[in-house]
Amino acid sequence: MLKFAASIFAAPVHAYICCQRDQLQSQANILPTRDRILVERYFKPDVLDRVRILVADPLPISNPPFASLMRHFGFGFPSPLLTEAITFENVIAFREAMNSSVLFHELVHVVQYQVLGVREFARQYVSGFLDTRSYSDVPLERCAFHLQFRFETDARHFDVDSEVRLHLRRL
Ligand SMILES: [Zn+2]
Repeated sequence: MLKFAASIFAAPVHAYICCQRDQLQSQANILPTRDRILVERYFKPDVLDRVRILVADPLPISNPPFASLMRHFGFGFPSPLLTEAITFENVIAFREAMNSSVLFHELVHVVQYQVLGVREFARQYVSGFLDTRSYSDVPLERCAFHLQFRFETDARHFDVDSEVRLHLRRL
């Protein structure tokens, strides 16, 4: 049943991500140097070159068309409009002023998108959500929260690309 549901929702989630990314891209800017300096020891330069940033409240995005259908099936899908920040492939939209910790978390998602591709990211996110019924327990989120915690609490640098690949192999 869950596999079937995941296969139903993965395609519209993929389409939603691509649509929001394309819409936001033109309004978004490159990562400012003052923010890049804070995270550049953790990420490959091409990730930081590709990322685009937008800060806006309310977020200029639409609610996913599948959210009400998911709620109908009993899945409390959180509204992307109310999140602090959200990432659509290489575009990060912040609802509140950007801070280094949230930026770091969202950049982990940019790396996950790069490693998996948008389609597979969407599939894993959906199946993780349907499995756990909790946004913060989705494996892609657990990885991002875990690395964000290390960034906040441990002064030693690490390579996010390697950590993301390691995490995906363990799934
Ligand atoms: Zn996240």
